Amino acid sequence: MTAYVIDGKEASARLKDGVAKAVAQLKEKHGIEPGLATVLVGEDPASQVYVRNKQKTAVALGMKSFQHDLPATTSEEDLLALVRKLNAAPEVHGILVQLPVPKHIDAFKVITTTAVAKDVDGLHPESAGRLVAGGDALVSCTPMGCIMLAKDVLGDLTGKHAVVVGRSNLVGKPVAHLLLNENCTVTIAHSRTRDLAAICRSADILVAAVGRPEMIRGDWIKPGACVIDVGINRVPTPDGKGRLVGDVNYAEASQVAAAITPVPGGVGPMTIACLMVNTLKAACAQNGITDVEIPQKLPAKTAV
Ligand code: NDP
Repeated sequence: MTAYVIDGKEASARLKDGVAKAVAQLKEKHGIEPGLATVLVGEDPASQVYVRNKQKTAVALGMKSFQHDLPATTSEEDLLALVRKLNAAPEVHGILVQLPVPKHIDAFKVITTTAVAKDVDGLHPESAGRLVAGGDALVSCTPMGCIMLAKDVLGDLTGKHAVVVGRSNLVGKPVAHLLLNENCTVTIAHSRTRDLAAICRSADILVAAVGRPEMIRGDWIKPGACVIDVGINRVPTPDGKGRLVGDVNYAEASQVAAAITPVPGGVGPMTIACLMVNTLKAACAQNGITDVEIPQKLPAKTAV
């Protein structure tokens, strides 16, 4: 049996379509255009591509995009001053400072200076706390994308055993809490976990967020499991260009799992779409608006 391939590009297009419709509703009913401010410090080429894609997507969905490109020599004080200015700007509903920032800047200070209401990356400790303790939170985008994909394939996740490999603040921990909120029984594994293969083999849903190319092998997967591979790792190729692989050995795992996300084209494309959901959500919350349909899950596929 070959696994069903979870097409993240197709799924993200559906989600973006849902966001665009809601943005149009927000404009029509309330005359408000969600605004996303992106801040890039320095000229890292990968970060430049990420930020441009975020801006382009925001504009394509009918939002306003405010881009701030700062030199790598920008002081921490100047960056924090800009964040405070954006916190106070009424036309800006979401703030995203592209990480990593240069070494002389404390990323945690940047995150904690961002207004919680505008924390569309979901990295502020208060956003993380609300996710854990309950309450309305802006949830970090990649974890939100993972859950949407899993629910799109499996429907109700109640009672399923989910194993999350990785415990970072960015991915592993929020994914685990989101799965718990979906009534899964959750195991979080990490670099000190004993007998990781056996634990993975007990997973109905396996989320890999490790950053180690193809570490999870086919015989670590329970037959019929749903595998969500968050990893993005560049491995060398003879032509020198390199290629992207996930944390799961796709060729092997796709022979055992019932459904699997490919890399690239799985979780990756969902991240930007979820950022757009958060920007829309932030714009509605900041204006006390409750009559706009913010997509909480992937819109259903339409029959062709
Ligand atoms: P981190 O490096 O912050 O965390 C990696 C986690 O994996 C840690 O908790 C670590 O454990 C654990 N780990 C490392 N080695 C092992 C091992 N041998 N066995 C078990 N666990 C191990 O990475 P991130 O969470 O930021 O990212 C994970 C992956 O996801 C990366 O490939 C990254 O590129 C990708 N990513 C993809 C995104 C997307 O949009 N698709 C967005 C963000 C990340 P410990 O805590 O014990 O050190």
